[in-house]
Amino acid sequence: MSSLPPLREVIARHGLSASKALGQNFLFDEQLLDRIAAIPGDLSGKAVLEIGPGPGGLTRALLRAGAQVTAIEMDRRCLPALAELEAAFPGQLQVVEGDALKLDHDELMQGQPYAIVSNLPYNVGTELFTRWLSGENWPRRWTSLTLMFQEEVARRIVAQPGTSAYGRLSVLAQWRSTARLAMKVHRSAFTPPPKVMSAVVHVEPKGMPEGVSARLLSRITEAAFGQRRKMLRQSLKALPGAVEALGLLGIDPQRRAETLSVDEFVALTRALGENQSA
Ligand code: SAM
Repeated sequence: MSSLPPLREVIARHGLSASKALGQNFLFDEQLLDRIAAIPGDLSGKAVLEIGPGPGGLTRALLRAGAQVTAIEMDRRCLPALAELEAAFPGQLQVVEGDALKLDHDELMQGQPYAIVSNLPYNVGTELFTRWLSGENWPRRWTSLTLMFQEEVARRIVAQPGTSAYGRLSVLAQWRSTARLAMKVHRSAFTPPPKVMSAVVHVEPKGMPEGVSARLLSRITEAAFGQRRKMLRQSLKALPGAVEALGLLGIDPQRRAETLSVDEFVALTRALGENQSA
């Protein structure tokens, strides 16, 4: 909305000096913010959950795209600036003061499906991401995740087998969803600029493979990548039946975790689960 004051002015007027403890690195470039808000597709009339709106740069872009935004912010200092946005987009924005790690997101969104879009605070980003992708029920209520990460973390999320970035996060993000690196963001786009480059990852759920427990898959990847330099027959030793399951599947136990495809991890989890329940 053209009547909104520039974000830098909002920050100055409300005295919003960036807090390191809260992982605050703000984005001011409205064109860049519009491009991020466009990644999930047409948001017009759609429910969106934003974590950490701060002074509201990304929030504005989501509102301009026509989304119905619920935003969770734990820094009280940002609330007056966000109240101005609520007034500028009547009925489109609901701000919730609180810690996103402690709130039930589905409940907050009143049971309706919603997209999650966020320039995450780095300190809680991976924790929230892991939670959104966990659990036996699939798909979840969220329809997509569009999230800013440090580029190194983003690369781990979308990594392919056989690369050093491939690990637990890659399997978690890819076994029942698609994950792509949607945009790289230069560190100089942020105020203050962080030490490292950033990137936006976009995740959409796909069908959940049958007969596979998310919890067991998590235990297998934890064991396998916990000792990623070791052969699977060694790293999976502590999981009863795992090495036998490798044999049944024709997976060479001398291989290392980073060579196993996501499908092979899924097959291993299914085989081990069937074995355990037999
Ligand atoms: N979205 C804004 C932007 O793009 O300019 C701000 C992004 S800044 C990287 C992260 C924001 O998340 C800050 O406003 C910070 O106060 C907020 N935050 C940090 N930890 C949080 C938590 N646990 N729950 C909710 N908000 C949090």
